[in-house]
Amino acid sequence: MTEDKTSMLINCKKCNRLFSSKDGSTLCSRCSDVIDDGFGRVREYIYENPTSSLKDVSHGTGVEADAILKWIREGRIVLSDRSNISFCERCGVAIDGGRYCGKCIHDLSVGLKEGIGQKDVNPRVGMHIRENEKNKK
Ligand SMILES: [Zn+2]
Ligand SMILES: [Zn+2]
Repeated sequence: MTEDKTSMLINCKKCNRLFSSKDGSTLCSRCSDVIDDGFGRVREYIYENPTSSLKDVSHGTGVEADAILKWIREGRIVLSDRSNISFCERCGVAIDGGRYCGKCIHDLSVGLKEGIGQKDVNPRVGMHIRENEKNKK
């Protein structure tokens, strides 16, 4: 029986699983894999599951949705036409399919009701939008 002093059981910093650490690593093999190869995993996953939603991809790859979105925005990951990951055409927020996020759909339907048939910009609608923009971060 050999004593391995470089290997000891610790909790993974990311997923908190108990694993045997080698070389003082603080992440289990699964989590360090994700960090090393997250991009490849995501790209592969989307390639194999072109219709998956952002949630699916994040879940399936263990990569945070924010990182996936960043890659998509940077053009490093190209989505297929069948993809269920898309961005709101109005505010750019990530959505699971469709053209607009829930908030914009709401805003647009309000705007349509108030602004329909009017060629001039309705000042009340303008104020309404500005107020909404102030509220988002
Ligand atoms: Zn882990
Ligand atoms: Zn939106």
